[in-house]
Amino acid sequence: MAESVKYLLSEERIPKAWYNLAADLPKPPPPVLHPGTGKPVGPGDLAPLFPMAVILQEVSQERYIDIPEPVRDIYKMWRPSPLIRARRLEKALDTPARIYFKYEGVSPPGSHKPNTAVAQAFYNKAEGVKRLTTETGAGQWGSSLAFAAQLFGLEVEVFMVKVSYEQKPYRRALMETYGAKCIPSPSNQTNSGRAILAANPNSTGSLGIAISEAVEIAAQREDTKYSLGSVLNHVLLHQTVIGQEAMLQMADAGHSPDIVIGCAGGGSNFSGLAFPFLGEKIKGKLNARVIAVEPASCPSLTRGRYAYDFGDTGHLTPLVKMHTLGSTFVPSPIHAGGLRYHGMAPLVSHAKELGLIEACAYAQNECFAAGVQFARAEGIVPAPESTHAIKCAVDEALRCKREGKAQTILFNLSGHGHFDMQAYADYFAGKLRDETYDQKALDTALAGLPKVAAE
Ligand SMILES: *Cc1c(COP(=O)(O)O)cnc(C)c1O
Repeated sequence: MAESVKYLLSEERIPKAWYNLAADLPKPPPPVLHPGTGKPVGPGDLAPLFPMAVILQEVSQERYIDIPEPVRDIYKMWRPSPLIRARRLEKALDTPARIYFKYEGVSPPGSHKPNTAVAQAFYNKAEGVKRLTTETGAGQWGSSLAFAAQLFGLEVEVFMVKVSYEQKPYRRALMETYGAKCIPSPSNQTNSGRAILAANPNSTGSLGIAISEAVEIAAQREDTKYSLGSVLNHVLLHQTVIGQEAMLQMADAGHSPDIVIGCAGGGSNFSGLAFPFLGEKIKGKLNARVIAVEPASCPSLTRGRYAYDFGDTGHLTPLVKMHTLGSTFVPSPIHAGGLRYHGMAPLVSHAKELGLIEACAYAQNECFAAGVQFARAEGIVPAPESTHAIKCAVDEALRCKREGKAQTILFNLSGHGHFDMQAYADYFAGKLRDETYDQKALDTALAGLPKVAAE
């Protein structure tokens, strides 16, 4: 009885609206441009790819956007997600800092990604779409969209970055379990894929290439639209259920975060946790540092250029202003596949330019070491992506120890690593290499940035 009452009360704590940071930014982000005309894109330009409800969210300035009841109803399968104080990790580190984490690994596919997948599937279904195409890196996004789409009776075709397709066969099996079709990218099914294979038959693929393939198919077919798992404003918007819940939960716990941390690939789980807190920071109600953590091998925020660039390698997408390594940059095949994207969400990039957030980068071995330390203290085996946030949280906790400060750290544990155990096996076997990026390849990719008059 007591348990079920608690459950009902906790359902009430799932937000009823998403929070849109764009409404509170001191300066609006630069517009998205049409690559042909160099002019800002209108809703009509995006209509072949996305449902109109999603396009309107992409450009919305409304502070709160209602979560449709069918979406919120599905969120109830795993939300609100737990906020956990990592007391055993605090003890292991012997730190005066308080470490909290928001755990998104409780969703059925095991990460934060269904928060947007469910919303996108809902809006596509509502507008009569039959089929979705998408790309996936580590397979988290593909499995999340597969999960969400089958709840609404939509078909899904997933272009999976080839290196991950080979490294992570179970993630592919998970997508197939949910009913999706999975194709290693680059493939010979699209012009973009064939062009890459012609130039380099051994290409390990990249998210940029897989996006081109998925976009190409969606643009060609009337009944098919494209779905993106990160980067875009509407994706970040849908993820803000994480931070809004965390704010209530932190208030319950009686602490306010001094530091908010998330790992950043395209920027969605970081934004999901951080944006509601950033809104408070902008209004002067919170004085927290907000840190995005990326891999040293794909350092768009810390080493990329803030410039207009394509979202994909085949140059089919509009131009967005973001921190980018260049759309032709192919990061080394590290195990945190979800962090291997050449660009960063425009809203995250803009927040960085405005000085609202910080960024740092870590190599993969030190992240796995932190992930193992976390697993041994807290029991949860983190996704390789999430270990980047853990590493940063651990470093901040150790700094607190040196400085004798009892600060409160909050990080997003974006997913569990149950499908990534090969990565852990490789780490224990000493097989992981700390490759940084290739400076020459980066210079070449940056030299190829599109020339945009508006800059
Ligand atoms: C996809 C993924 C990421 C990276 O994507 P973001 O859009 O930056 O959040 C991080 N963690 C997990 C577990 C993921 O699946």
